[in-house]
Amino acid sequence: MLIDTHAHLDYPDFTGDFHEVLRRANEAGVTRIITIGTSVESSRRAVDLAEKYPNIFAVIGVHPTYVEESGEDVITPLRELAGNPRVVAIGETGLDYHQLPSVELAKERKTQVFAKALQTSTEDQIEAGIHDGAYKSKQASLFEQQLDLAVELGLNVVIHQRDAWDDTLEIMRPYAGKLRGVFHCFGGSLEQASEVLDLDHLVSFTGIVTFKNGAAVREVAAQIPLWKFMVETDCPYLAPVPFRGKRCEPAYTRLVAESIAAARRVPLEEIASATTETAEQFFRFNR
Ligand SMILES: [Zn+2]
Repeated sequence: MLIDTHAHLDYPDFTGDFHEVLRRANEAGVTRIITIGTSVESSRRAVDLAEKYPNIFAVIGVHPTYVEESGEDVITPLRELAGNPRVVAIGETGLDYHQLPSVELAKERKTQVFAKALQTSTEDQIEAGIHDGAYKSKQASLFEQQLDLAVELGLNVVIHQRDAWDDTLEIMRPYAGKLRGVFHCFGGSLEQASEVLDLDHLVSFTGIVTFKNGAAVREVAAQIPLWKFMVETDCPYLAPVPFRGKRCEPAYTRLVAESIAAARRVPLEEIASATTETAEQFFRFNR
């Protein structure tokens, strides 16, 4: 028995064969799937799916890269959605500095005529710096609002963090003891894993642990305490080997768990039962 703790079942990638996807998950022993909202609309779709299918549960929130599109007030609709007993946590929320406005600008620059770029580069850099700051503080504000909502509702939080490690931990610091977070799709070092585990948060691992170049993450998964992590697919992204590059689906949670079991030299059942129990404690399945 396994739980896919992070899927995006509301994405159009699954409309064609949704029932087949659920059937294959069930056959692989993935008995519950948590579908994660990335915007208010996506969260609403997640709740709809969770209401319709007994083995699907919803996590609702606004992803940091969607802050620009999100409306002024996302908390009111999220709070309303959270009234639904099928909602088991808040997220995914957090910080993502991977594509800051200045990085985007630099990419555009490469494709532009050099003379013009040289002429205006300094001014543009200052301008881009200002945009970066505004973008970061908007992400921070939305993150904090969702953490506050989680505290208010007594729910835990699914954290998305990319290239923003220090700021993410800094924002979460005052919430220590009030809520727990899972650092989903964990790709950090053993040191970083210990840092979040010491704060009573969790990590979860995706198909990256099966990748040839995923040795470092696999090693982290092999070394951290058994009760401190969960498994996920992050589907439709990050399909594990041998499906790498194809569409991912919840059934592949089993491949993630198998890879971790092999790295820890324990039977799959041990990983399956421990991660399931951890997920049952972290998410509020019976509200
Ligand atoms: Zn996700």
